[in-house]
Amino acid sequence: MKFTPTEEQLAVQRTAREVAERLLAPKAAARDVSGEFPVAELAELGRLGLLGIAVSDELGGAGAGTIAYSLAMQELARVDASVAVAVSVTNMVAELIAKNGTPAQAATWVTPLVSPDGGLCCGAFALSEPEAGSDPAALRTTAVKTATGWRLDGTKQWITSGSHAGVIVVWAVTDAAAGHKGISAFLVPGKATGLTVARLEEKLGLHGSSTAQLVLDGVEVGDDAILGAPGRGFALAMMALDGGRIGIASQAVGIARGALEAAVRYAKDRKTFGQAIIQHQAVGAMLADAATWLDAAALMTLRAAHLKESGKPFGQQAAMAKLFASEHAWKICDIALQVHGGYGYVRDFPVERMLRDVRVTRIYEGTSEIQRIVIARNLLRSVA
Ligand SMILES: Cc1cc2nc3c(=O)[nH]c(=O)nc-3n(C[C@H](O)[C@H](O)[C@H](O)COP(=O)(O)OP(=O)(O)OC[C@H]3O[C@@H](n4cnc5c(N)ncnc54)[C@H](O)[C@@H]3O)c2cc1C
Repeated sequence: MKFTPTEEQLAVQRTAREVAERLLAPKAAARDVSGEFPVAELAELGRLGLLGIAVSDELGGAGAGTIAYSLAMQELARVDASVAVAVSVTNMVAELIAKNGTPAQAATWVTPLVSPDGGLCCGAFALSEPEAGSDPAALRTTAVKTATGWRLDGTKQWITSGSHAGVIVVWAVTDAAAGHKGISAFLVPGKATGLTVARLEEKLGLHGSSTAQLVLDGVEVGDDAILGAPGRGFALAMMALDGGRIGIASQAVGIARGALEAAVRYAKDRKTFGQAIIQHQAVGAMLADAATWLDAAALMTLRAAHLKESGKPFGQQAAMAKLFASEHAWKICDIALQVHGGYGYVRDFPVERMLRDVRVTRIYEGTSEIQRIVIARNLLRSVA
């Protein structure tokens, strides 16, 4: 067992840390207030190869694998979780199309998505609907066959980057009688006629990430827009979400690391009763718990990434990593805020933003309750 990243993984991590400090850190607090979508920042991250980290270099990606992806995500989220989630979804969409699309689909969508100045800004993953979140098989968007392709109608809810994405993977029912085997995935241009942003959600955190309700009203796409075979959509979504959970676990670890670092810095500076507050056992103990949870979460996340990169089953480990990392990142951010006292509750310090941003990691790409269901099902299968 090796615990040392390769030179390539370290190089990707260094690149992500450098760009996070140089480009994201100065504007993270302002972006939280303005809600401005980070178009220019995503373009720069694309130039540095961070939008297709695990996508092969033949397709324009960095070809650096899932561990490098996790390390980079942690670095970006440590500084600005809003940008990190757009990067995470774009990587997920690029990988999904690269692995399951035709060569023509990969050339049309993946290369422009991950390459410098490809012009697609980012990708979006449109599975959830107003009445279908934890239970995506209940989705109602339809795709009806036409003479030249498919016509899509329906409403998608909570779509990260849905207002800016150049390509959106849209899941729709193509055969209502076939249950989840009647769901297919379609590659829809962000500017497709009939596709509108009906609403942008006002959220607790992640203010620099757009979360859109998308309405598809007679959106026409060609036969070449279907990803994989008709009826394969649900399986593709589940596969993508398994990998996506490594991204969200990495995001949780990154935010928690940012919060813990801020708390330790503050605890060394702030004095009460004549000494730095970190010297008070109660404060030191809180920070010790936080550091221990953070280490466990990071190791679990990297183990899931390692399994995925090695081509081994990783669904169980990804669900465990997402569950543990998101639940504990929330607690770590809460400790970081507590250590700041009253100053933790105001915008002069970053920890209140981090606490708000981290909360959603327990909800999206499968709530903690759904992760527990996934884990328990695997336990059931594992015992003869
Ligand atoms: C900021 C944000 C960004 C998002 N981005 C995207 C995106 O890009 N693409 C996308 O497709 N979706 C996205 N989502 C949607 C997200 O994945 C869903 O919100 C999530 O899966 C939960 O679905 P729901 O909101 O419909 O809650 P529900 O499914 O209605 O669940 C409500 C509550 O019931 C619990 N629950 C439900 N079923 C069970 C069960 N069987 N057992 C125990 N408890 C259960 C849940 O855990 C939860 O606590 C995003 C959501 C948010 C908030």
